[in-house]
Amino acid sequence: MSTKATVEKLVSLCKRRGLVFQSSEIYGGIGGFWDYGPLGVELKNNIKQAWWRAVVQERDDVVGQDAAIIMNPMVWKASGHLDTFADPMVDCKECKKRFRADALVGAAPESAHGHEAAAKVTRCPECGGELTEPRMFNLMFKTYVGAVEDDASIAYLRPETAQGIFVNFANVLTATRKKLPLGIAQIGKAFRNEITPGNFIFRDREFDQMEIEYFVKPGTDEQWHQHWVEERYNWYLRLGMQKENVRVRQLDRDELAHYAKDTYEVEYLFPMGWSELEGIANRTDFDLRRHAEFSGRDLEYFDEETGEHIVPFVIEPSAGVDRLFMAFLMDAYDEEEVRGETRVILRLHKDLAPIKVAVLPLSRQEKLVPPAREVWAIVRKHWMSQYDDAQSIGRRYRRQDEVGTPLCVTVDFDTLEDQAVTIRERDSMEQVRVPIAGLVAALRERLEE
Ligand code: ATP
Repeated sequence: MSTKATVEKLVSLCKRRGLVFQSSEIYGGIGGFWDYGPLGVELKNNIKQAWWRAVVQERDDVVGQDAAIIMNPMVWKASGHLDTFADPMVDCKECKKRFRADALVGAAPESAHGHEAAAKVTRCPECGGELTEPRMFNLMFKTYVGAVEDDASIAYLRPETAQGIFVNFANVLTATRKKLPLGIAQIGKAFRNEITPGNFIFRDREFDQMEIEYFVKPGTDEQWHQHWVEERYNWYLRLGMQKENVRVRQLDRDELAHYAKDTYEVEYLFPMGWSELEGIANRTDFDLRRHAEFSGRDLEYFDEETGEHIVPFVIEPSAGVDRLFMAFLMDAYDEEEVRGETRVILRLHKDLAPIKVAVLPLSRQEKLVPPAREVWAIVRKHWMSQYDDAQSIGRRYRRQDEVGTPLCVTVDFDTLEDQAVTIRERDSMEQVRVPIAGLVAALRERLEE
């Protein structure tokens, strides 16, 4: 975490600059749901794209897919979610507030779902009232499919994207004619009726996941597990996260989910302490075996080398876009003194920055409008850009710094004579003059290399 960032500053910046808004704010909001504004949707898309590029585009052993959010409810029976996807919860008998029992005992507030927390808390942390005994609370949202609302039409909003991959394993294998090891990647919404959403967008009830199920031959699973832990950790560093704020932690045996043989977490140093960004689990052959059993379908893989039918093991790197969004922002946030004024700056990696280039006429003077508009027309074909002519040039630079725009292009009175513009760099504030004819090449050199 940047020492200057606090959750309050981040929430305020996000609202003020159109990154994140509370969902249905005009009606008082709704807990655990958030909306991404004009700049937020850009940053979110950039995170997804950077991930897709690293795990699908640049590899020859991972392919993508996009499964439906609502699936046959048998999926959740087979996966174990109907029976075990629950958190122990206590209610306050006085103020009626509800808490996660494991969070109240102070032990591992970020522990995996399905944990039986030994909750021996007797008093409400809010009002001191008496608490109920812990009860297990299923985190899946229920809905009905079709016109009749009865037990036979109950369906669930998926609590993870993973199961949509397991149930398509055989389809993807046949369609792609690939051999093991084979990964299937997916980005999409997941829903969990979390008892205590909070810490801004860290724990939500609706969020985006980016998951890979990487199918391997049994016996090679541990080695591939190590591979993915390294790959994923390095991805965060490549995207500019400061090394001292990211760590990898191997979970203790008693922290493991029921399906996992071994799990590592990539964690980030948030203001509330080290917390999970991404889990990288060895799920063994649990899921494919369960789906084969419940569906009656053959989900085995024929190994041509040995002539054997096997059930692949699975390594699963699973990250949440919203959590990463918050971590990247926290990490990039900085404040510095420039000529007696505080400059707020998001030192976002250029691949993540919502706006890559801002085009700024020096003033609103009429003569500058046509060349500035022309320059913008050139730039916007290549990059997400903004045109801003309000207020003084200094104020406009600050506004771009505050949302992490790596480059500003300024059109001034000299432009009318020399057909050149000034490129100003966010971090160093250095300025160079380039001819308009060479502008795209100059920007490309700075943004893409
Ligand atoms: P936690 O213990 O924090 O509830 P988990 O261990 O249940 O998380 P997983 O099921 O492993 O989480 O989910 C994989 C990833 O999805 C997490 O690393 C996280 O980035 C993201 N994620 C999970 N739950 C939420 C949530 N409620 N809000 C935002 N992101 C989430």
